[in-house]
Amino acid sequence: MTRQREVVLQVIRDSHEHLTANEVFAAAKARLPSISFATVYNSLRYLKDAGHIAEIQFGNGASRFDRMTSRHDHAICTVCGTLVDIEMEVPPDILKRAAKYSRFKPESIEFTLRGKCPDCVGS
Ligand SMILES: [Zn+2]
Ligand SMILES: [Zn+2]
Repeated sequence: MTRQREVVLQVIRDSHEHLTANEVFAAAKARLPSISFATVYNSLRYLKDAGHIAEIQFGNGASRFDRMTSRHDHAICTVCGTLVDIEMEVPPDILKRAAKYSRFKPESIEFTLRGKCPDCVGS
């Protein structure tokens, strides 16, 4: 793996957030000032294809990159946009049921909880 890719991967692994490409670029540049946005972008593509990171998309918002590559769900705050991981068990037949209703050949299923995060509820 190239130095640039290593830096990009480290940025994502060190972060507890789900960073956008722009945020990854800012953090990578702090560690490796010569790195370009194009290199960061290409590294993200490479790391995703190699299974080191996951990419998540919500509607038409910017993609976010996730260090957790195993199946998990997310909660997103409708006020501040905070995105957190949820690790919960889902009913084993839910994929089959969703496939039946949609008549799709299923591959994966994810849930997104939308609401107010504890900080936004408190304020
Ligand atoms: Zn919030
Ligand atoms: Zn996640």
